Amino acid sequence: MTVNSLLERAKLLFLHLLFPSFCCSCKTPLPYNQLVCEKCSEALSKGRIKKSRVRTLYGRRFIIHSVYSYEDDNEAATIVKRLKFAHSFNCANYIGKVIADKARSLRKEYDIVTFVPMSPFAEYDRTFNQCEYIASRVSKQLGIKEQNCLRKVRFTKKQHQLSSVDRRRNLKDAFRCRKNVAGKRILLIDDVTTTGTTLSECANELYKGGAVSVTSVAFSLTKPKR
Ligand SMILES: [Zn+2]
Repeated sequence: MTVNSLLERAKLLFLHLLFPSFCCSCKTPLPYNQLVCEKCSEALSKGRIKKSRVRTLYGRRFIIHSVYSYEDDNEAATIVKRLKFAHSFNCANYIGKVIADKARSLRKEYDIVTFVPMSPFAEYDRTFNQCEYIASRVSKQLGIKEQNCLRKVRFTKKQHQLSSVDRRRNLKDAFRCRKNVAGKRILLIDDVTTTGTTLSECANELYKGGAVSVTSVAFSLTKPKR
């Protein structure tokens, strides 16, 4: 072992003592700067989504990219819930990295990273929008500006409780584009998607605002309840 590698090991040990790292899913202690343990990483890979969902809304085709399957208490669900309800911001680092890797793999160009907004009441209740945190991590990973481009303009029911027709009705005109996005290529991100209606509605608003392309990537994909 060289002096340099010994020094590097000592540095990692020191950093681990200062900033202990734990698996975002099972909370096992990990070496400094690692986010998910090997066991959870393997389990996540088994639930990798192979095929993107395609929606047609307002006469436009929307491709909804997602990375992992979200089911009951699997690893992807645990990571999202730990961010939302236990405010584990390391989970935002992990989700951000996964979304950035997926966005890179699509080999597209992006000018802006943006996210699905929450209604002001819901955001006040939770104190933060987890998608905004994820978007800031994606922005850092890709070196692209993050911008809060969308606003939720009215209260909506929870999407997963509704039928597909009701989902669309529930979200129709629920979002507004709040920034000048004319001529921009946008990466739109979400933590969990079900049928892609929310992402499609948000993308539609961005197109109405003049965006030239909107690429939607969600960390996870869940099945509709009915
Ligand atoms: Zn783990």
